[in-house]
Amino acid sequence: MIAYQVIESGKPLVCNKIQTPIPKGNEVLIKTISCCVCHSDVHFYDGGFDLGAGKMLELPLPVPYTLGHEIYGEVVETGELSDVKVGKKFVIYPWIGCGGCEMCVRGDEHLCNSPQIIGLQVSGGFGDHVLVPHAKYLHDAGDTDPHLAGAFACSGLTAYSALKKGAPYLANNKVIIIGAGGVGMMALQIAKAAFNCNPIVIDIDDEKLNVALENGASATFNSKNENVMQEIIQHTGGGALNAIDFVGSELSVNFGINLLVKGGKYVIVGLHGGEFKFPLPLIPIMERDIQGSYVGSPGDMSELMALVRQNKIDPIPLQARDASEASKTLMDLKNGKILGRASLVHS
Ligand SMILES: [Zn+2]
Ligand SMILES: [Zn+2]
Repeated sequence: MIAYQVIESGKPLVCNKIQTPIPKGNEVLIKTISCCVCHSDVHFYDGGFDLGAGKMLELPLPVPYTLGHEIYGEVVETGELSDVKVGKKFVIYPWIGCGGCEMCVRGDEHLCNSPQIIGLQVSGGFGDHVLVPHAKYLHDAGDTDPHLAGAFACSGLTAYSALKKGAPYLANNKVIIIGAGGVGMMALQIAKAAFNCNPIVIDIDDEKLNVALENGASATFNSKNENVMQEIIQHTGGGALNAIDFVGSELSVNFGINLLVKGGKYVIVGLHGGEFKFPLPLIPIMERDIQGSYVGSPGDMSELMALVRQNKIDPIPLQARDASEASKTLMDLKNGKILGRASLVHS
């Protein structure tokens, strides 16, 4: 098999010929059809997350390693204990845990402290084959575009799980989505399909905001514009009850948190990085609820994929590229040049 691998953080990926894994027991070998590229891939590739004040949360990974966790592919071989059929096509749930800890046992494998994430600890979809430990991590995507299907395992799941944390959304409640990138756009589509609401979308890019408006945003605002904060407060009749921040930068959080009414909830999803400073008395006085949301559980994935199979979620803009463009795609994503999702296609 071949894999586009990281050999050094931040350096161009290298196309390596490596041994194709042989599935044993419950394992399933998937031939990658396509793998969407996500901002987390950029952070993993850069070697960590910006904690602000010049500090980094470093992610020392053994090199070489193979990125890619938004995978759609076809079963080509199974271990002796697996009864999944060769030739079937699936999206892979990649946020796999150890299976034995308290979090894994209660169904929150994505919060496991000894994770076996596909595309991080385990070789991912920048390779043309991927080994999955069990068929329970495979999800039928119905007749979804095969190049987009993998995005439901991360951007779709992340959006769905974050939206669940703010739900239920009252009819008169204005929900704000901050960031109209791949995950924010997915959240807009899922908010309409699963939560019966049309969010307000905020970004700094007018082109992305126009696409959000065409895709059902109830209103859009460019946060670079003067007086935009007052305009949003006015538009929402005093502020929103929920804001979901898919950027997660110092700028976005400091801007967004002030758009909420008392009792409002701020869900931080994006991993752009930096530090957050907020006057402590305002947290109790305003009964401010600040919550983090990280990808989603296997249960969330099952709920989301049921919606996907019913064709309830409108597609987001997609750019399919040959897998050999993996390095360039990471750079384009880092530089904000991707509208919607980019997908690497393996021939
Ligand atoms: Zn992702
Ligand atoms: Zn665990």
